[in-house]
Amino acid sequence: MSNYKPQVVEHLVRPYNVGEIGSPSGIGESGEATCGDVARFTVRISKAYVEDARYKVYGCAASIAAGSALSKMVRGRSLIEAAKVSKLDIENALGGPLPVGKEHALVLVLDALHKAFEDYWNKEAGARLVEGYRGYEVSGE
Ligand SMILES: [Zn+2]
Repeated sequence: MSNYKPQVVEHLVRPYNVGEIGSPSGIGESGEATCGDVARFTVRISKAYVEDARYKVYGCAASIAAGSALSKMVRGRSLIEAAKVSKLDIENALGGPLPVGKEHALVLVLDALHKAFEDYWNKEAGARLVEGYRGYEVSGE
């Protein structure tokens, strides 16, 4: 663990927002073949804000720290801002670049989070479509 910056170790010792939200707005999973890491994000969205974001990571220390940092960064943020959080933003939150060969952690957790947002987006858009269609039917009668 000596290759890791103190900020990374901090997240490993006391990880933020570990777990899973019951009946979440969106669920996203991502797997990284090279390392065998798997990340799962659940999010609760309300009025275009990320009320809660929780994650589970089965993988290396870098992935756990990245998930912890990312969940902390997106909670309480608007959906648009949260969706813009980049690999660089996570690296900065972790005190700088991860050790060589550990960059996949950033892709892994971002991918899982984006899939959770996408899941929410699809459900939301689907619900609106159905509503819109019903509205059309009613006015067409
Ligand atoms: Zn890994």
